Amino acid sequence: MTKPPENDRNTFSKDSVEGMMPMLICGPCSAESESQLMTTASGLSALLRLDYFRAGIWKPRTRPGDFEGVGINGLRWMQKVKDNFGFRLMVEVASPEHVEAILQYGVDAVWIGARTVVNPFSVQELAEALRGTKLPVFIKNPVTPDLHLWIGAIERFLKAEAGTLSAIHRGFHYFARSPYRNAPMWEIAIELKRLMPELPVITDISHISGRRSLLHEIAQKALDLGTDGLMIESHYDPSTAKTDAAQQITPAELLKMVNKLHVRKRPEGNDFDIVLERLRTEIDKLDGELLHLLARRMEIIDEIGQHKKAHNLSILQLKRWQHIMDDRSAIGLHLGLDKNFLVELLELVHKTSIERQENIFRKE
Ligand code: PEP
Ligand code: MN
Repeated sequence: MTKPPENDRNTFSKDSVEGMMPMLICGPCSAESESQLMTTASGLSALLRLDYFRAGIWKPRTRPGDFEGVGINGLRWMQKVKDNFGFRLMVEVASPEHVEAILQYGVDAVWIGARTVVNPFSVQELAEALRGTKLPVFIKNPVTPDLHLWIGAIERFLKAEAGTLSAIHRGFHYFARSPYRNAPMWEIAIELKRLMPELPVITDISHISGRRSLLHEIAQKALDLGTDGLMIESHYDPSTAKTDAAQQITPAELLKMVNKLHVRKRPEGNDFDIVLERLRTEIDKLDGELLHLLARRMEIIDEIGQHKKAHNLSILQLKRWQHIMDDRSAIGLHLGLDKNFLVELLELVHKTSIERQENIFRKE
């Protein structure tokens, strides 16, 4: 770890100096049992200074029948966590009924989940339910990469004059394959910060990463971009976790991971490379589109292969191939692509297409 300047707090552990570090929100993905919450909280409390202890009480699940959270019982256990360890509590709310329940159990802050933020009706209902409560509200980005939808949700809470607002960047659903569970698309969070500089933006590294091995890299990147805090899922025994087992870490692993982070003085303004981030996202998107197009092309090649086989036609039809080479090269050259690149690319595509059709011919 690089030595930080004097008086600069560079560790999240309990003995650090207050005030210098970004916010830290940790706890399990879901509340599962009283002992799971207490053991996890005890581990965290021994090692780290947390701003909030989090747990999902009602879980938004993709399919019915998956573990849907423990409900009100979980709130009773959370109260015990607060009484025993003094943590401030943060819970996800998705309906006015949830808000009513958490208000009875001394929850200190709420987050609005990514699946809720996509729905302006739900967001408006929650904003009304939280009106006047002064409860801090943390608004996750919507699952889709739509900055306006995110800002719209924030504006609904602003108008309802709920408590202090923060955003949570948890990554976005993206059609192309990526190493992340939710593509970070950093430029969207950066743009939010540019448009609403006073709004703290926390990074939920667990839901971006989807697996433990990526947490450190994502946390470091978030800090380098000047994040206002980290949300990290932690479970005393992730292998038994009922939700998000692959991305949760034990309190001890969490401490080890955060202590390896370089915490730099946060930039005053936007001195990170927004242009580069935007261009890279564009490249990622285009690569995804290119691969989808290539896959679609191969599917049609297969259909042609079936047709040729059924009608006893030869695979290689030289006139057609010559036409493709001439036509595509002309288009590519016109678009400013290099001649050699075009020839190599077209030949590779053609060679692979022929191989696929040969395979079709070989099958009985
Ligand atoms: C969570 O924080 O456990 C959660 C369900 O998050 P998200 O809404 O980001 O999927
Ligand atoms: Mn989770």
